[in-house]
Amino acid sequence: MTKGEQLYEGKAKKVFSTEDPELLIVSYKDDATAFNGLKKGTIQGKGVINNRMSNMLMKYLETKGIPTHYVEELNDRDTVVKKVSIVPLEVIVRNIAAGSFSKHYGVEEGVVFKSPTVEFSYKNDDLGDPLLNTYHALALGLATEEEIKLIEKYAFGVNDILSDLWRKYGVILVDFKLEFGRLSDGTIVLADEISPDTCRLWDSETKEKLDKDRFRRDLGGVEEAYNEIMSRLEENMK
Ligand code: ADP
Ligand code: UDP
Repeated sequence: MTKGEQLYEGKAKKVFSTEDPELLIVSYKDDATAFNGLKKGTIQGKGVINNRMSNMLMKYLETKGIPTHYVEELNDRDTVVKKVSIVPLEVIVRNIAAGSFSKHYGVEEGVVFKSPTVEFSYKNDDLGDPLLNTYHALALGLATEEEIKLIEKYAFGVNDILSDLWRKYGVILVDFKLEFGRLSDGTIVLADEISPDTCRLWDSETKEKLDKDRFRRDLGGVEEAYNEIMSRLEENMK
């Protein structure tokens, strides 16, 4: 499989066509952004880590019955994925209050929820990814009711599977963002990435942040945190 035309360059990845119209190659960059692109930087080696981690986690999720876009890792930064039409919803699952949830609802970061939550943001950079509910998504025709139900089922499924996995490796899965897409036959699959860019991951003992919050909040030790979280996964998932 070789890269064809570059179809898209996003904030964290480039997307290329391939000789197969149903497949794409995504290429992970070291570029990091936060606050809807207002903060920009580079996290050395991030692309390699996010590519490998996302692929390992998607492969694992497939074994547990979650369909994903993952096809084949080509090298450190490039992966073949099934081409989807992205459902323009950022699907956010939370186990513990942090980030925008803490801000919106005045709940201190670290408060453990009685049960996990799911919320949707409209994936639209120009509007700053505003929160929306199921009725909004249906009204705007972003997805059907059946698709939303399935997406919620998969999102909570991913949460159960990955919370258990990370717990074994001494990591708390605080919250994360997923994107789903439709294959050409309409099948909904998990797409995009699962990485320290898109998850909050805290050390179970020290509660140290091992994710992109180190970059967002200028906490230092950004590369070290990405390396640490990746080595936890690689040492255990061999
Ligand atoms: P952004 O667009 O937010 O800057 P990225 O830099 O990660 O994000 O770019 C990757 C783009 O590719 C995203 O817009 C994402 O929705 C899209 N994408 C992810 N997986 C697939 C897929 N399997 N098929 C088509 N598009 C995808
Ligand atoms: N997230 C993401 N992309 C986004 C917004 C959020 O990957 O555009 C992830 C983020 O890494 C965190 C979770 O979704 O794991 C919840 O993020 P939150 O809404 O708290 O966003 P914040 O305001 O802190 O960026």
